[in-house]
Amino acid sequence: MSSDIRPIEWNFCPTCGAALTLADDGERPRPHCAACRRFFYNNPVPAACCLVARGDALLFARRAVEPCIGEWSLPGGFVEVGETTEEAALRELAEETGLRGALPRLIGASTQPSKLSGAVVVMGYVIDEWEGEPAARSDVLEARFFAPAERPPLAFLAHRDLLAIYDTLDRR
Ligand SMILES: [Zn+2]
Repeated sequence: MSSDIRPIEWNFCPTCGAALTLADDGERPRPHCAACRRFFYNNPVPAACCLVARGDALLFARRAVEPCIGEWSLPGGFVEVGETTEEAALRELAEETGLRGALPRLIGASTQPSKLSGAVVVMGYVIDEWEGEPAARSDVLEARFFAPAERPPLAFLAHRDLLAIYDTLDRR
């Protein structure tokens, strides 16, 4: 990944509010809170997305929120503390499309620059078992299956990467 986007910079300690200073963590100078004895790092944010097939058709969701409002994406979202990436994928699938999925299978990961967090690492999961009918729910305007020739362009580079990986898989 290459990026000209500058990640968010830490200026104040989110715990105690003190101004941070640069201190060496053994590798290089990093923002540091002397009171909390804590360094602050700019790490990518983990996210998970789902590839859900019905026959040849694949499920896509049209975004109701920024960034890229109105554009299509794979169902998915950010991983929260307290859940695994698999749980995040299934939670987002249910929240956005109403589908209840099971047995997520990791097919790859893609990293892309993000204006908000510096970078996002998106894990792609094939959801082989699911039930329900897709319906637009939280953060989504529309959720439906598309035949291969009718797939919409996707807003996010990481989703395009993962879709390309998906298309190389041998699916019987
Ligand atoms: Zn502090």
